[in-house]
Amino acid sequence: MPIEEHHVICDKCGFKFERGLKYKHCSNCYVCTGCEIYYCPQCDDRIVIKPIRKMNFSSKPKDENTI
Ligand SMILES: [Zn+2]
Repeated sequence: MPIEEHHVICDKCGFKFERGLKYKHCSNCYVCTGCEIYYCPQCDDRIVIKPIRKMNFSSKPKDENTI
């Protein structure tokens, strides 16, 4: 997928739109790890620039140690 510095070009329909919060899928969710995902305003296709990284919870599931 072509990425310009300030724009995103939809892979599917070729629509070009501004990078920024306006079309960003995840703007400020509390588990956000710096992902950057947009929905194309024209064809609604999801465009992932930086995928969501899973949080690495260092502790094991709690009920493993509680018995
Ligand atoms: Zn599109």
